[in-house]
Amino acid sequence: MPEKMQKSDDEWKALLTPDQYAVCRQKGTERAFTGAYYDTKTKGRYLCVCCGNELFSSESKFDSGSGWPSFWSPLVSESIETETDSGFGMVRTEVLCGRCGAHLGHVFDDGPPPTHLRYCINSVALKLLPKEGR
Ligand code: FE
Repeated sequence: MPEKMQKSDDEWKALLTPDQYAVCRQKGTERAFTGAYYDTKTKGRYLCVCCGNELFSSESKFDSGSGWPSFWSPLVSESIETETDSGFGMVRTEVLCGRCGAHLGHVFDDGPPPTHLRYCINSVALKLLPKEGR
């Protein structure tokens, strides 16, 4: 279980770029097909851009065609937390970093096997740590 990290809005604002802050701390969404990782096939692990928590593996990344990086599973279940999000006239399941509470994206039930889940994540919330020795 990752140890929780809490910082004030001012602390996050000082640490993050404006785009990172808008998505991760204010639950924004980057525009589809604009992020760094939606089409990335590099092997490695995706970390939380806010706190470095290991969130997703390239092994569960798939091409959803949505324009956002998509995964069928988190690295481990404790990597993330989920919450019901009733904003914008929809009921969706929000995905947050299990360590620092960063807004990452949403999870939908139209993903591929084995889980049939689609974690639809903003690139700007992630930092890819490429696997060494590829
Ligand atoms: Fe985090």
